Amino acid sequence: MYAVGLGTEDNPITKGMYQFALGATGATYHGAMCLVESDTKFVFNPLGGFHHAGRSHAEGFCYINDIAITIEALIRMGLRVAYIDIDVHHGNGVQNAFYETNKVLTISIHESGKTLYPWSGFEDGIGIREGRGYNVNIPLPAGTDDDVYLYAFEQIIPPLVNAFKPDIVFAEIGGDVHRDDPLAHFNVTSNGFKKAVRILKEISPKVIATGGGGYNLFKTAALWALAWAEMCGLTPHDHYAGIVGGMMYGPETQSGSLDDPPFSLDGQEKEECLKQARDVVRFIKETLFPMHGIRLH
Ligand SMILES: [Zn+2]
Repeated sequence: MYAVGLGTEDNPITKGMYQFALGATGATYHGAMCLVESDTKFVFNPLGGFHHAGRSHAEGFCYINDIAITIEALIRMGLRVAYIDIDVHHGNGVQNAFYETNKVLTISIHESGKTLYPWSGFEDGIGIREGRGYNVNIPLPAGTDDDVYLYAFEQIIPPLVNAFKPDIVFAEIGGDVHRDDPLAHFNVTSNGFKKAVRILKEISPKVIATGGGGYNLFKTAALWALAWAEMCGLTPHDHYAGIVGGMMYGPETQSGSLDDPPFSLDGQEKEECLKQARDVVRFIKETLFPMHGIRLH
């Protein structure tokens, strides 16, 4: 293992890995330039979104931080960029890149670092120096379902983005929020994910989206297909669902549709989740909203 995070279990040294990481970064950068140079409103690089990579180290399956490099290029062009990270893991690499600047509004909504890698991203990480107030973490408890997720999302993200008035929104839309993801502990379904993407679209003048995590490959592919459709204003039709035994979508038990049936926690577990989410939302509203001139009500 080397000092820069290479040779670890998460970031092995494999043949062609540098070229792969460069290619992914180039694609994200190119996508962003398409937004800048044309009337295009939405671009998507499913193979980007390496939000854990640091300035000088690799971590968390990420070698080169295509997001930070691309956002840096955009702000050097004088553009205002809001970064919204809905991957289930905290976007630590992007946070660290822009922690001291007010040129990027960095928002990450994720499973709490108390229960999930990278063990960071608590609500009191709000940026320092000129960046104070421009880093927003929304940590939610393990178990979070669509209701809890969307409650926190809607309470915090639209008001901040509207106040910041970005020229471009950069969205990292990892599919590992899904309740079938084997590495994380949320209970978000395609219904919650789609709604989040719809809100993102509504509050953004232009969006560059990348993929990110997602370790149930079938569900991740379904979520990204749905996100693509949502952003393009299309309704996907499952022409093949059922006809081929559902194997197009993964194992038989999960097949049938791009969409999931609704799922909601109840009882004590729901109460506990909601309570924790409310505490985080209250903290952010009281601490950050006044810095952006957003009135509390
Ligand atoms: Zn992730």
